[in-house]
Amino acid sequence: MAAGSTSSEGTSHKKLFIPGPTEVRPEIRAKLSLAPIGHRAPEFSELFNSITSKLQRLLYTQNQIFLSTSSGTGLMEAGIRNCVEKKCLNATCGAFSERWHKIALDNGKQADTVSVEWGKANTPELIDEKLSSGEYDALCFTHNETSTGVTNPLYEVAEVVKKYPDVIFMVDAVSSMSGVKIEVDKLGIDLCLASVQKCLALPPGFSVCSVSQKALNRAEKVPHRGHYFDFLALLKKAAKGQTPTTPSIPHMYALDSQLDAIFAEGLENRFERHRRMADMVRSWASKSGFEMFSQEGYRSNTVSCMRNNKGINVAALNSELAKKNMLISNGYGILKEKAFRIAHMGELTPVDIEELLQNIDEILERTGT
Ligand code: PLP
Repeated sequence: MAAGSTSSEGTSHKKLFIPGPTEVRPEIRAKLSLAPIGHRAPEFSELFNSITSKLQRLLYTQNQIFLSTSSGTGLMEAGIRNCVEKKCLNATCGAFSERWHKIALDNGKQADTVSVEWGKANTPELIDEKLSSGEYDALCFTHNETSTGVTNPLYEVAEVVKKYPDVIFMVDAVSSMSGVKIEVDKLGIDLCLASVQKCLALPPGFSVCSVSQKALNRAEKVPHRGHYFDFLALLKKAAKGQTPTTPSIPHMYALDSQLDAIFAEGLENRFERHRRMADMVRSWASKSGFEMFSQEGYRSNTVSCMRNNKGINVAALNSELAKKNMLISNGYGILKEKAFRIAHMGELTPVDIEELLQNIDEILERTGT
């Protein structure tokens, strides 16, 4: 969709360069308006099984897939409730990784953090040191910290976690799934979750995850798993190609179709497209004199966070961009006006990024914001 396009409702649509929700193609939006089917009907199970086998392919896994009519945070809570019996370790490095810790405490779980400064990546060494205490039976890890534009070293951390067979490895891949390769089985990830409104480029309100047998075994031992997100209830229904409660069937039509489009693009091509767009934004930042907020070597391929070292008015820049029907993100929470973010995920292409960056250059030059 070209920037400046107008939606069927007649309102001017701003192209989303924010880290979710992201642009949704008209073909996908059309799927959302298909007539519902009964969620206990055979055609529903067909749809369910079609999606779950495609998600297994996307995640390089044989693990069980669950579909959740909730945003991604729901599945984070599910992970904590189902898989933490003793105490969990939450690796924090920004706003979303800190959410793991809040969820654990809000659910009355014993929990500690292993933290690095915002903008830095979690280190396998610190995680190893903490896990070696033997106190923990779960590690909650954020693959792509959307608030700071950091991609944490998933592959290295996975090697560390393999040394601790009692530890359930839970990975928030909300802003990386389908934009960055995640080989769930090779990495031994027990829970890999994502919302669909990021790289999967669907409207918000639905999320997906893979769950290992080890995580399901843990769930059997954990009392008070709750009701809506009880893994064992989800498992029982999934065996029949169903969900325990009425799911968002429109999302399922859209997801099934989007997964076909993802495989048609080719997974490696898709990852490469995200990498190229990230490179473009980083080169632009360097040329324009903006420092990256995220640590070198750990910069995200799906969202770039720039330090506002030039003291521009980010809100004013966004107001000017709005006139061009484009939207970027201010810094998250405490980083408001101290940083700004450009997402390059989902349906966006290098041409979109080029157009955005040219517009930002023109606005900054004209207004000196
Ligand atoms: N984790 C990360 C890394 C995120 O970026 C977000 C949302 O931006 C969330 C979790 C929460 O996802 P949701 O809003 O779908 O619950």
